[in-house]
Amino acid sequence: MSSKTNKVCTRCVMDTTDTEILFNEKGICNHCVEFDDITSKRWFPNEEGETLLKARIKLIKREGKGKEYDCILGLSGGIDSAYLAVKMKEYGLRPLVVHVDAGWNSELAVYNIEQVVKYCGYELHTHVMDWEEVKALQVAFLKSGVANQDTVQDHAYFSSLYQFAAKNGVKTVISGGNIATESIFPGSWHHSAMDAIHINAINKQFGDIKLKSYKPMSILQYYLFYPYIYRMKTLRPLNFMHYDKTKAMQYLIDEIGYKEYGRKHGESVFTKFFQNYYLPKKFGYDKRKPHLASLINAGQISREVALAELDKPLYEEKELLQDIQYVAKKLDLTVDELNGLINSSGVSYSNYKNWDSRYKILKKVQAKVEKLLGREVKQYA
Ligand SMILES: [Zn+2]
Repeated sequence: MSSKTNKVCTRCVMDTTDTEILFNEKGICNHCVEFDDITSKRWFPNEEGETLLKARIKLIKREGKGKEYDCILGLSGGIDSAYLAVKMKEYGLRPLVVHVDAGWNSELAVYNIEQVVKYCGYELHTHVMDWEEVKALQVAFLKSGVANQDTVQDHAYFSSLYQFAAKNGVKTVISGGNIATESIFPGSWHHSAMDAIHINAINKQFGDIKLKSYKPMSILQYYLFYPYIYRMKTLRPLNFMHYDKTKAMQYLIDEIGYKEYGRKHGESVFTKFFQNYYLPKKFGYDKRKPHLASLINAGQISREVALAELDKPLYEEKELLQDIQYVAKKLDLTVDELNGLINSSGVSYSNYKNWDSRYKILKKVQAKVEKLLGREVKQYA
């Protein structure tokens, strides 16, 4: 992507690769302003947080009395969910622990999941996705040229988690989502992974395979059924404690024998490839920027350290060549085919059918339902 003059926020490291970014007179971006005005007000990395968290957990335990589980927790093998699982064990919760295997787990992720489960004494429920379906959908997404190539995995994760919860009568999702490391994300970069209309449209145009076990969750299920009729709630405990990812990892290494992924290795090989190569190459998006911007606003690193981090390469050349071969082979593509799909120009999600128009109607219906019920329900409480 050609960028004219790249303007960078004077407080964080977000820049004009976010086409919707705005700067105030001090050169501070809208993400930082939003952090100060809104996000920081629902963030409690202090004693108050502990009191609030204890109260919420007490409620969850009361609701779950007599049931096999009192909440559900998705385990990816990453630090956030691993640390969360260990902490929730300390708080005495009895989660239904689910891992969704979409075919891209690194060996280390499998090992780390085992360590967590062993340490906590939890029983692990692994949902293995139908690989032929996942593969066909992923190739269809690559052919579509849209930015959010993690849609196929992310959507599968949430819809499986919700289905597991409903099947077991669990009403609370315990999520590792957190303000400290991921409060900032530019909306202009990605379309929601929860949009089933979008997934079906791309499958129809580029894949056209029958989805049997991969069941996209509809907009009605996501915005009306689960929050209002089923009354699913989400709790993000990491927002109620001092969560520092580096310290959390050290704790996991010392306590449970967790192993570090290394600087650029993640729990999913595809996600790593997508974030460190596909997005920067095709769209000019560097996901390290919103992550580092979040850490700066959370007071965990300085802007200087973040800028130095961004100067490092996204991939070592040898590792990149290896990963291109690995991803191509796994998706039954030749290396040339995969490179062709990456080197062609990016396409906006809005070129394909999506939920945008319905979303507006849904939001109005939601507001009416909330008025009727006299309560507010948030997808991301
Ligand atoms: Zn900023």
